[in-house]
Amino acid sequence: MNPSLTTPAPVPARGSARRRRPPAWISWLLIGSALSGLHYALPVLGASDVSQAVVYCLVSAGGGIAIAIGIRLWRPQAASAWWLFAASQAMFTGGDISYYTLTVLGEEADYSLLPNILYLLQYPLLGLALMVFSRRRTAGRDIPAVIDAAIITVSATLLYWMFLIGPMVSAADMLPMERLATVVFPVMDLLVLTVALRLMFGGGSRGCSYYLLLGFLWLVLLADSFYGMQTLISDYIPGSWVDMIWLAGYISLGAAGLHPSMARLGERPHEHRPVDATGYRLALLASATLVAPMVLVVQYFQRGDLNLLVVACASAILFLLVVARMAGLLAAQRRLASTDVVTGLSTRRSLQERMARESSRAGRRGTALGLLLVDVDHFKRVNDTYGHPAGDEVLAETARRIRASCRAQDLPARFGGEEFAVLVPQSTPEGLVRLAERIRAAVAAEPVTVDGSVHVSVTVSVGGAAMPPHARTVEDLVQTADGALYAAKHSGRNRVLIGQVTGGTGAADRRFHPAA
Ligand code: GH3
Ligand code: MG
Ligand code: MG
Repeated sequence: MNPSLTTPAPVPARGSARRRRPPAWISWLLIGSALSGLHYALPVLGASDVSQAVVYCLVSAGGGIAIAIGIRLWRPQAASAWWLFAASQAMFTGGDISYYTLTVLGEEADYSLLPNILYLLQYPLLGLALMVFSRRRTAGRDIPAVIDAAIITVSATLLYWMFLIGPMVSAADMLPMERLATVVFPVMDLLVLTVALRLMFGGGSRGCSYYLLLGFLWLVLLADSFYGMQTLISDYIPGSWVDMIWLAGYISLGAAGLHPSMARLGERPHEHRPVDATGYRLALLASATLVAPMVLVVQYFQRGDLNLLVVACASAILFLLVVARMAGLLAAQRRLASTDVVTGLSTRRSLQERMARESSRAGRRGTALGLLLVDVDHFKRVNDTYGHPAGDEVLAETARRIRASCRAQDLPARFGGEEFAVLVPQSTPEGLVRLAERIRAAVAAEPVTVDGSVHVSVTVSVGGAAMPPHARTVEDLVQTADGALYAAKHSGRNRVLIGQVTGGTGAADRRFHPAA
């Protein structure tokens, strides 16, 4: 056979055998899920309670071991916090092992000292780990995040008290030790909930590990609540559906520790995040304020006292009206922060936010993002000759002409001083040149009238760049456009230069000036 006609056997690339193996965190998710399935399959297959307990403890221990492996693999910045998570999970496992050992030995495990002490010890370790992360991830004191966490915690405490802690405290048929054991756990859960919410509402990077960790916390809190309710109604039965939630939590925790993004969970944010009061956050806080009226409604249905219903409806309406007022204030504040007073254009901050959004959208769609920087020529002379208020009028009129030259999807903004920027989504270098030239011509077309009668001739220089081909990052884009603007100024003003400037000659991809 002619060897040139055969398809050469693919040569395995170096390390491809390793690459074909699923990542460690996926492997753990699969192993953990398979063990959990086995946990529920064993009784059906007629296996003993002991084998079921062993499988349960394997998943529980696996969560902690996975974290230890993750720390070795990814060398996280906040290794101490991850070790605290592993230690907390070790307490969980210790509790599980002693609980099942006592159960298998035929003893009452629910209120025995050893499993309960081990289960209790996991909470301070868990809380401490979460606190280390929150502190590391927050630049300075984040009071709004603390207040938001407090709002949700107070609502959750009310629910816990009404449906869990209160009934436990007043349950008639409990021994003091039983009462203490059943009350202490929901209280600990509430403390963990507070630090977990603080982590959720604070800043810092949010990778896969972050979400898996939150998943673990919510699952454990949910399982603990169901366990509490079960012990209130009857007795908790090991191997019931509640165990499934705990198992899912352990699997999620192990995966959080094994995911590569765990290394960045304790990273300090580069800049202070603005107060996060998104619509979603407001809706969450509004729902939290409605918990108390809802509890009253439940009591109305239990007792039939109409006064309860009236108070519940009035307070719900009041809370919602206050939240609506807050949302209005927030929208007004956001409008103020995003609009420049002199020109009515967007501010540099909103340009930056939109630029980040448009850059990732352009990356996803494979389109180019363009940026123009427009600087008024010899503007100092306008101020010096006609005064500052006249200068403001010139700036406002220049902004109006820039806006009139743009398409609906472009974002003209005041970049600072007498400099403007236009963000141009879905642009081509040719389209960018056309828009820049339209802006330059519109400003130079006729003098600006100031003080009602004085005519001031105004011109602008424009530098621009597109990503791709002129830049790869947003920072590059601004820098390249700025370089082009600088070159446009140096080659005579009242002209357009788009693209990279090569050497000190001011040569760019495309250039336009009035004479051209
Ligand atoms: P060039 O052609 O090189 O850009 O010269 P220029 O005079 O425009 O640039 P320069 O940076 O020397 O001066 C810019 C001036 O813009 C100085 C500053 O007082 C003025 N300026 C900045 N912001 C405002 C504003 O809001 N209103 C007014 N009236 N003037 C402003
Ligand atoms: Mg200028
Ligand atoms: Mg300038």
